[in-house]
Amino acid sequence: MEKTGGLLLPGMEARWVETLGWRPSDRQREMFQSLYERILSGNRRLNLTRITEPEEFWEKHLWDSLRGVVPWLSRGYSHLKIIDIGTGAGFPGLPIAIAIPESEVTLLDSTGKKVAFLQTIVAELGIERAFPVVGRAEAIAQMSEHRETYDLVTLRAVAAASVCAEYSLPLLKMGGTAVLYRGQWTEVEQKEIQRAIGQLGGVLESVEGFETPLSGGVRHCVYLRKVEPTPDRFPRPAGVPAQKPLG
Ligand code: SAH
Repeated sequence: MEKTGGLLLPGMEARWVETLGWRPSDRQREMFQSLYERILSGNRRLNLTRITEPEEFWEKHLWDSLRGVVPWLSRGYSHLKIIDIGTGAGFPGLPIAIAIPESEVTLLDSTGKKVAFLQTIVAELGIERAFPVVGRAEAIAQMSEHRETYDLVTLRAVAAASVCAEYSLPLLKMGGTAVLYRGQWTEVEQKEIQRAIGQLGGVLESVEGFETPLSGGVRHCVYLRKVEPTPDRFPRPAGVPAQKPLG
């Protein structure tokens, strides 16, 4: 048995219900545990995450991933088409695929090694509707099979907020939502993102500030909604959005 196989995630039944109004099934808890064990063993080769203690993994990877999609968890949505841009080791995309099992989740990252790892995790956990894809958001968002086809786009720790807006809004269907997972959120970022989304067909729907339930870390989730088609020239070619942010 793997040395890491013995570490157990906390159940946190009451915390899930109190904080998210949602309770994982036994099967979902087993899948979270398997995900944890596989990330720990993959970490030795790939340096995926610094977060390895059970409680910290629960809070900063599982809880944090699902906190951003509470509106879609508790209303029992299904058949959502979701893309997680810059998913890395699969966050927030994999916990979302486990928690909303009838959704279809594309896990996009520009690093081939991480995506290959995600392919093995998805197969081993039997997550049928998660699709790891290697590529850059700027390129994927110009392909007709991806552009304006998603209900929900998530981004955590990928780029500056207005850059995330340029990556995500072209991928959304009309009426779809982008969720930006942020730590602190400043007035300057708010002004920059307002200027960016005005050019991309989006509006700022809401900004939710909250603390993580165990360590009290500051988080903000920024929700953007697509209200008009994004002009074809966005996103600009690979690298340009980050070099010359729209905001
Ligand atoms: N979302 C994960 C990983 C964050 S690290 C988490 O929160 O744990 C940022 C990841 O975004 C890296 O794996 C990097 O390869 C990827 N990335 C950065 N820019 C990207 C782009 N333009 N398109 C696709 N992936 C990108």
